[in-house]
Amino acid sequence: MPFPRLRWSLLLALVCLLAPGLSPGAQPKRKRVKTPSKQLVTLPGGESLRRDAAAAFLRMSTAARAEGIRLWVNSGYRTRRQQRLLYERYRMGLGPQAARPGRSNHQRGLAVDIVVGDEDTPTYQWLAANACLHGFRRTVPSEPWHWEYRPRSTRAPAPGTDCLGQPLPSKEPEQTASSS
Ligand SMILES: [Zn+2]
Repeated sequence: MPFPRLRWSLLLALVCLLAPGLSPGAQPKRKRVKTPSKQLVTLPGGESLRRDAAAAFLRMSTAARAEGIRLWVNSGYRTRRQQRLLYERYRMGLGPQAARPGRSNHQRGLAVDIVVGDEDTPTYQWLAANACLHGFRRTVPSEPWHWEYRPRSTRAPAPGTDCLGQPLPSKEPEQTASSS
């Protein structure tokens, strides 16, 4: 009888279609943020970032300090578990906004929360004017503290200007009055 045979072949075809997802070695197709534990570098203060982001941050921090600004890091790299806890706290209304686990660049070691206060503080103003020179930029409109290392997509300013388009301060030493 051809009918049962046809049913069997239909069943076989179905199994073949599903098999790649069922075979023991197959990885489920899920977008997951890789944990770069080997690539992490600890910053002064204990938070860490991915090696390239950490190096850029330290250069930025040194430049800031030369102008009297200290960049304190509140949060750098986060494990998936840490991100999940923050997200749950946010969902319960107990903490600040936090991205869903897997959606945060903190899990990639590329995002850094810097203690800036609000947008009027010298620290924030300095970052707004200088972070792009080091490959960092602000990515979340509601979070002035959250900066991400995105060197490829962060546009460098025109020569002689800062990240806000203002002329860079002259590097020449100020002339001191010698009239007395
Ligand atoms: Zn953040």
